Amino acid sequence: MFDKYSRNINYLRISVTDKCNLRCSYCMPVGGVNLIGHKEILSFEEIYNVVSVGTILGIDKVRITGGEPLVSSLFIGQFKADKAEWDS
Ligand code: SF4
Repeated sequence: MFDKYSRNINYLRISVTDKCNLRCSYCMPVGGVNLIGHKEILSFEEIYNVVSVGTILGIDKVRITGGEPLVSSLFIGQFKADKAEWDS
């Protein structure tokens, strides 16, 4: 996939949450931020579909970001599912 400057785009950066348990001034101003609603955040299945289509278009690297992605219930649920699978 190429952008309008003919640069090859081979990675996706997906922000899965705007929440973070740290307060770096870089992205969390003293006055706070307006958090977006849960319904406006992609589900795990939606992210999976976006990445699947991306791989067809030449994406070979995906960077998961936030906020802090590990505070996302999306990933906590996935880790719990994986742990249950590992324990069986
Ligand atoms: S998302 Fe990163 S930069 Fe922002 S508050 Fe959290 S750790 Fe700091």
